[in-house]
Amino acid sequence: MSNYKQETLCVQAGYQPKNGESRIPQICQSTTFFYGDTQNMADLFDLKAEGFFYSRLANPTVEALEKKVAALEGGVYGLGCASGMSAILLTAMTLCEAGDNVVCANEVYGGSFNLFSVTLPKFGIECRFFDANCSAERLESLIDERTKFVFAETVANPAIVVLDFEKLANVCKKHGLLLIVDNTLATPVLCRPLSLGANIVIHSTSKYIDGHAAALGGMIVDGGNFNFKGNKRYPAFNVPDESYHGLVYGELPVAFGTKCRAQMMRDTGAIMSPQNAFITYLGCDTLALRMERTARNAEKVAAFLAAHPKVEWIHHPSLKDDPYHERAEKYLPNGTGGMMSFGIKGNAKDCARFMEALKLITQETHVADVRSCVLHPASTTHRQLNKQQLKDAGISANLVRLSVGIENADDLIADLTQALNAV
Ligand code: PLP
Repeated sequence: MSNYKQETLCVQAGYQPKNGESRIPQICQSTTFFYGDTQNMADLFDLKAEGFFYSRLANPTVEALEKKVAALEGGVYGLGCASGMSAILLTAMTLCEAGDNVVCANEVYGGSFNLFSVTLPKFGIECRFFDANCSAERLESLIDERTKFVFAETVANPAIVVLDFEKLANVCKKHGLLLIVDNTLATPVLCRPLSLGANIVIHSTSKYIDGHAAALGGMIVDGGNFNFKGNKRYPAFNVPDESYHGLVYGELPVAFGTKCRAQMMRDTGAIMSPQNAFITYLGCDTLALRMERTARNAEKVAAFLAAHPKVEWIHHPSLKDDPYHERAEKYLPNGTGGMMSFGIKGNAKDCARFMEALKLITQETHVADVRSCVLHPASTTHRQLNKQQLKDAGISANLVRLSVGIENADDLIADLTQALNAV
């Protein structure tokens, strides 16, 4: 399968039926699995044989999606998780223990920022933040011998910063350190972080991969391109795991993925449900088509807003004068996805007037699905922040976040036009 292009992988990778089996994966709604002999089960528990024994660790429907997303990302192993947040948490728990630290971009999704800045420190894991545009030297100054990974997003939500892969990959390589990239807003159709120096890729599949706002989920993809064996930064990969029959993860072909499932999926059960895996699998079949249309629509809508007299400013990397245009051309030549933010000339009340006047585009706490939607972060997702915190987060009172979907672009522009007229 690995020789095929993304459009083909979207529909063909993941599940290959045998004679007489269903063409698409079935929803395997079973907690447990039958075995007729004891040795077979023992081999499963020792990871000597492949198979399923309990759906808290692995499930055939979830596996079909895991294989599809891993193929799309060019990785060797996938882990379907209950949500994007649980995918990030399981990754951190697999790599870190109290006393360790992680280095994370400031410009990440608010939920991820909270996990790193508030929750992980409660377990003794420190997080050091860097500005996406900082120098390599600044980034290196945050790294010490207890640093376990660098984390950033390909296209940051909601700042729409395009990641400087070369800078991060070079620093991580120099320090024998994992680079973990959340590829949610770009998707593997528009960008493949593993080919740009990342070692692990994370997704909130609740976004474009499902694409229909129907199923919550997350995915971890192990790139299989990092050598843990003998790496002093990762002692837990180089000593026997007494909770797993003395397994030394660093000696396995899929070191990170196996450790994550054997330890953290086992201990948390934060696996994707078979029903959600099925829905997401179907959604992913059309991912390439949807991203193509999304990118085209986003370009047209961004150009329209950039020229509109009632729009003060707009951020979308498709625009030539956007600070991330050049980087987007280098790393995401087929588009950066449908999310953009713009400022209406006026204040929060004008934004409310505009958003309430929209007829087709709806107000939602969501991004990255087939339907276009808007949100006013200052009065919703970020309303708990004070004026200074809003300023630091780059959230002005007139900022509107727009996620462009796959409707007809002319209809979207007509709706934006009449709503802007109401301001
Ligand atoms: N990563 C990014 C970039 C996101 O935008 C989100 C959610 O919006 C998440 C992770 C968290 O995913 P979930 O909502 O599926 O837990």
